[in-house]
Amino acid sequence: MFSLDTIIRENVKELQPYSSARDEYVSDGSTMVFLDANENPYNNGVNRYPDPQQRSLKTVLAEQKGIASENILLGNGSDEVLDLLFRAFCEPNVDAIISLPPTYGMYKVLCAVNAIENKEVLLTKEFQPDVAAILNTVTANTKILFICSPNNPTGNTISKNKISELLTNFKGLVVIDEAYIDFSEDESWVTELINYPNLIITQTLSKAYGMAGIRLGICIASAEIISVLNKIKPPYNVNELTQKKALERVIDKKSIATEVQNILKERDSLKRALQGIFYVKEIYTTNANFVLVKVDDATKRYNQLLEKGIVVRNRTTQALCENTLRFTIGTTQENNALIKALNELV
Ligand SMILES: *Cc1c(COP(=O)(O)O)cnc(C)c1O
Repeated sequence: MFSLDTIIRENVKELQPYSSARDEYVSDGSTMVFLDANENPYNNGVNRYPDPQQRSLKTVLAEQKGIASENILLGNGSDEVLDLLFRAFCEPNVDAIISLPPTYGMYKVLCAVNAIENKEVLLTKEFQPDVAAILNTVTANTKILFICSPNNPTGNTISKNKISELLTNFKGLVVIDEAYIDFSEDESWVTELINYPNLIITQTLSKAYGMAGIRLGICIASAEIISVLNKIKPPYNVNELTQKKALERVIDKKSIATEVQNILKERDSLKRALQGIFYVKEIYTTNANFVLVKVDDATKRYNQLLEKGIVVRNRTTQALCENTLRFTIGTTQENNALIKALNELV
């Protein structure tokens, strides 16, 4: 049985959260007089502290995702959300997490920053989790398993059955990083929240939503898990400008859908063009806004592209990714520039 109580760090269990002036009363344009937070009273749009609970934004997101606001924590990018998970549940120099390379680099970085052991269990050749090997790696101090789906840098979706098996058999927290979910035809794991008390989903406005610059990460989990994270988050971790911009954007579902459709069309064109290039050895299946490609010599091709002013990602040093490059899908113009350059390489 999963028990959140055995996962939370002792100091976090005992912690009384800092109660900020704006926790009780949010400036909502009412006639109340706010003399509680030592702000400058002259209105310039940002002279007041932002809502620490981002209520307006959460209300819209909760409705769109079919969950309650209590199931959402927002952060300064997913990076802050992931860091909060480490700080809430992983005891430095004692606990461990499991990550599944080749995958997103931040899990490893956060292990180093928080003095947590990173137990790495490679994905299979098909870039799927080796469930038996993962479960064999679990110890009493293994707190979190990170699964990225669609996975970065490989682009594929992780098998639903394998994730279910892991959610059922691992007694720690399972974080599914869905940064690229809006490019995928697969359903989000958000609908499974009620079935798995140990499920945590992270999403972001940085990719499909086109808002990498405002830094807005989303954590979706049980109300119990969210309340633990709320205890330790900095009170004003999502600033006023970000909350405003995010709200404007998330209600504009049509623009987001159009851009995603365009990106997927461009992805198809790029894949077709890649098929005709002599040094391209493999084009991997992708459900994201990038494509991983195996070439004859990734570092050579990377440098040749750089000389032509095109920056791609060389993933050759990653496990199972020898001689691969990762191409983000750009605008039609940018993709045509990439295809032209790729065709000129000798
Ligand atoms: C890009 C990316 C993110 C986004 O992180 P933010 O801090 O929200 O910008 C998260 N996870 C993965 C796997 C990513 O590739």
